[in-house]
Amino acid sequence: MKRILGIAASLCLLAGLAPAQETKAPPKTIAVKAAHLIDAKAGRVLEQQVVLIVGERIEKVGSAKEIQVPAGATVIDLGSATLLPGLIDAHVHLTGDPQHSGYKSLGISVPRQTLTGAKNARLTLEVGFTTVRNVGAAGYSDVALRDAINAGEIPGPRLMVSGPALGSTGGHCDDNLLAPEFAHHDEGVADGVAAITAKTREVIKYGADVIKFCASGGVFSKGDLPGTEQYSPAEMTALVEEAHRQGRKVAAHAHGAQAIIDAAKAGVDSIEHGSLIDEEGIRTMKQHGTYLVADIYNDDFILGLGKQYGFTDEMLEKERMVGQQQREGFRKAAQAGVKIAFGTDAGVYPHGGNAKQFAYMVKYGLTPMQAIQSATVNAADLLGWSDQVGSLEPGRFADLIAVEGDPLKDVTTLEHVKFVMKGGQVIKNL
Ligand SMILES: [Zn+2]
Repeated sequence: MKRILGIAASLCLLAGLAPAQETKAPPKTIAVKAAHLIDAKAGRVLEQQVVLIVGERIEKVGSAKEIQVPAGATVIDLGSATLLPGLIDAHVHLTGDPQHSGYKSLGISVPRQTLTGAKNARLTLEVGFTTVRNVGAAGYSDVALRDAINAGEIPGPRLMVSGPALGSTGGHCDDNLLAPEFAHHDEGVADGVAAITAKTREVIKYGADVIKFCASGGVFSKGDLPGTEQYSPAEMTALVEEAHRQGRKVAAHAHGAQAIIDAAKAGVDSIEHGSLIDEEGIRTMKQHGTYLVADIYNDDFILGLGKQYGFTDEMLEKERMVGQQQREGFRKAAQAGVKIAFGTDAGVYPHGGNAKQFAYMVKYGLTPMQAIQSATVNAADLLGWSDQVGSLEPGRFADLIAVEGDPLKDVTTLEHVKFVMKGGQVIKNL
């Protein structure tokens, strides 16, 4: 929330530069009407609703009969559509695209990645994701992106960003593609408790809102295995303690069963991927209230088109090892009551296709309402932004979307969002 307060403070500063404008124009009032509204928090559907917006925040939500629309308000009548809170994707890489994968990644500069991020930020917002958590980016390109969006310079979702992901030498969060004589390592590499504590402080210094680290090996890295652990329990505990001390949540990339258990015990806020989760992992995550953020759609893209996008044979082989197991693990974890937040790993597959994951979450055990909750109230809770986003309630940012049809009957309607508003600004109205 400090970050949000910081944003508010800097916006006030900007407003302060234009005092004449500020005093003349009162905040705009908008009434958005629709036949249906999904109250994700209560898990119910309300009929004939009006969302009254003043400036960038929601003032009131209620039935068309009860809400008095003030004279002079702009009315947006979405007819038979269904309104929902703006969606949240808790695991994206806006500064990455699948065509920059494998060895091609070595030729993409940080400034180029930042521009790729600007393109993807707009794309992601336009498909209805008004908030995203970006977990892992080179050269603080994600921090630059967040700041440019907050300054109103480029369109994009609200961003929570991690900067470079922390990890061990030679691990998934290192960059192992070059020969030893290049002496190259990723900027997030830190080994041992002291170095990890220092690196956590460093990424916070340069703008991280959240800390991402690699607890296990991964798919899109050279020479490691998804199932093996890459930080010791002591290293994970040191990282989490330092991050939490400074008010930052922690996202742990973990495919392997032991890494999931140890990361949850260390107190991380979310397990990313969770592919090889076992019974003990499920128990431990439930006990600690750890969120599972499992990217269960992208296997189709990776195995279908990965080769032509330049993913190496090793990466594709590893995806075959974990992809389907991850979906089965997700089903077991969800059925056991592990908290689920929506996260796609967009960047590994093309941005803008985030909502394709909803159908997979329903196929693997969630109800459509639970899938929607994972991308609204639950994701907002994981980010620590429940009082700002994730529900249509007074005081929240006016981040809302609408679809034609009933997403509770057919969750794929969320792949075709017709109306997007962020902070009271209409982004799209088809
Ligand atoms: Zn990722």
